[in-house]
Amino acid sequence: KKRIVSGVQPTGSIHLGNYLGAIKNWIALQNSYDTLFFIVDLHAITLPYDTQQLSKATRNTAAIYLACGVDTSKASVFVQSHVRAHVELMWLLSSATPIGWLNRMIQFKEKSRKAGDENVGVALLTYPVLMASDILLYQSDFVPVGEDQKQHLELTRELAERVNYLYGGRKWKKLGGRGGAIFKVPEPLIPPAGARVMSLTDGLSKMSKSAPSDQSRINLLDPKDVIANKIKRCKTDSFPGMEFDNPERPECNNLLSIYQLVSSKTKEEVAQECQDMNWGTFKTLLTDALVEHLHPIQVRYEEIISDPAYLDGVLAEGAEKAAAIADATVNNVYQAMGFLRR
Ligand code: ATP
Ligand code: MG
Repeated sequence: KKRIVSGVQPTGSIHLGNYLGAIKNWIALQNSYDTLFFIVDLHAITLPYDTQQLSKATRNTAAIYLACGVDTSKASVFVQSHVRAHVELMWLLSSATPIGWLNRMIQFKEKSRKAGDENVGVALLTYPVLMASDILLYQSDFVPVGEDQKQHLELTRELAERVNYLYGGRKWKKLGGRGGAIFKVPEPLIPPAGARVMSLTDGLSKMSKSAPSDQSRINLLDPKDVIANKIKRCKTDSFPGMEFDNPERPECNNLLSIYQLVSSKTKEEVAQECQDMNWGTFKTLLTDALVEHLHPIQVRYEEIISDPAYLDGVLAEGAEKAAAIADATVNNVYQAMGFLRR
């Protein structure tokens, strides 16, 4: 079986973008691939954060994975920091990462500009190296990601090739290794729809956990009245009817796409159904569809989060399975890089 890994940061609350761009797609993938889904808590400390909230947010994120349908009889679910090899491999990889590659990353530029220099730790710059470690440790074939992570995945691929070139092949064989490639070079898996869910208050910027205003996103655990209120107040335009793909109507396109995904209709069906609607009618339709889609997830979430022993068990088992794969990779890398092994 081909392998897939993916994760979400336990910062803020999981929103519709994380769900439609990532988690929802995992559910279909777990049936045909060997899957590892983790909560990337080590990534969550790259910007100032609340130590009182981190462990809680990590648990909540795990519970959301399960509530959305991640099935632990098929997928391994674990917490990134529970598998030490992530940080270990990151250090080894960082020695092979040209600093210029990191300086070019759009997310670094955007987030560091917003946070201001004094708040930006080195980890925000080296974040993509940790992400590369997350992926390469498991010799992953595919990584399902939203549009925003494409550039980081490209860096992961280049880094894998560079390490294979620097330390793999004949050199590694001479040191007693199996020879050949150290890392598999992973491919991105961008979902055909939902890859970029936009903010409710600005159709040109992506829905994001770290955006200051909660009005800009629908959180997966938002109650019915909050969803209704956010949709009621979201940005609209004054064009007649509803339509996809009009560049002058990014908000309209975004909300129609969300409606399409949560109602499991085709784009054509939605275009037909909504073309003559006004904003008011469409908003009611969208709110109802969202509430209907999210309600069962919210019910399951409450069940899972109120059973901490079960959740701990899932995470312990997941970490054990993951560590077995990750340790083997990191040991190979030490060997290939010429370290004295004990
Ligand atoms: P932050 O603002 O803190 O970076 P985020 O909302 O971008 O948070 P991440 O934890 O960085 O969330 O990303 C988790 C997954 O969700 C990734 O696969 C990412 O590509 C996807 N994702 C994030 N935002 C969106 C979005 N607006 N549309 C589609 N996918 C998204
Ligand atoms: Mg992000």
